[in-house]
Amino acid sequence: MRISVTDRCNYKCIYCRTGTDGAIYGELPFADYLRMARLLVSLGITKIRLTGGEPLLRRGVVEFVRELAQLRSPEGQQPDLAMTTNGHLLADMARPLKDAGLIRITVSMDAVDPDRFARITRVPAGFDHVLAGIRAARKAELWPVKVNCVLMRGFNENQIIPFGMFAREEGVIVRFIEFMPLEEDRVWSPSVVVTLDEILARMAEYRPLIEIPRGRSETARRYRFDDGIGEIGIIAPVSHPFCGHCSRIRITSDGKIRTCLFSVWEHDLHELMRRGASDVELADFVRGVVGRKEERHHIGEPDFVPASRTMVHIGG
Ligand code: SAM
Repeated sequence: MRISVTDRCNYKCIYCRTGTDGAIYGELPFADYLRMARLLVSLGITKIRLTGGEPLLRRGVVEFVRELAQLRSPEGQQPDLAMTTNGHLLADMARPLKDAGLIRITVSMDAVDPDRFARITRVPAGFDHVLAGIRAARKAELWPVKVNCVLMRGFNENQIIPFGMFAREEGVIVRFIEFMPLEEDRVWSPSVVVTLDEILARMAEYRPLIEIPRGRSETARRYRFDDGIGEIGIIAPVSHPFCGHCSRIRITSDGKIRTCLFSVWEHDLHELMRRGASDVELADFVRGVVGRKEERHHIGEPDFVPASRTMVHIGG
């Protein structure tokens, strides 16, 4: 389960946001997200990822992590707690997040070249903050630290090999993500997508890669370098869709359930809560919604219908 705690963001990445639009949807009190999380963990959710917008912008997020860390599955297990962040504010927050019970973290970073990074994020001098955040996360023993890079032809496909080096030097898992049509500006086209096959071919010019077996619901194909130093992953929803393995559900910042990134409708869990539904009624609702999870997305097909929200407002 992914919970978006805000759709505000302090970055304006060119492939994600227009740069002019801000937050659109509301935010709920943490107590409401916590009730949703408790319910879903009781129904079998074992992994919770906090996201946004930018989750570290939300005041009280560390306390929220502490509350989530108290949850237990019906078998008595603590949920696996993760966060996806742009890392800009992470340097000071990595240790408090770890102490509160966060287990692992993913930092989004689309270039290892500071100038290119600034051009993509449209925020000056952000690179140093993000790098400091990644290093602080490692120091705080959030593990693993993953670095997600969305590749776009003409913007940053020349960063593939530098990211391979970065993974090895910094001890992080770098994951390349194929660009999906989920942006505010409608700039997506198939030709902009840098595909899994291209990434593998380019990286092999640097060092040979060996595929690592992966778990059933893992979205990334995983590879290690031939000398055992450094791991990269590739998430290829466009060229190699994995919908049949997807077990994710998402809660938006305003409390709607989305069963697919590309959902064209949402399920208003918060409205039910507001009307006083009991936990039994909420659980019935969630079961019904999850039972109707979309079979697959239709990216690149003639019948593709854009999702009802863009990525920053869903929670990536
Ligand atoms: N602000 C946080 C961050 O930067 O990680 C969390 C939200 S952000 C929307 C989550 C992830 O979605 C980021 O890694 C971002 O690069 C990715 N993303 C945004 N738009 C995308 C798109 N159209 N296709 C693929 N990934 C996208």
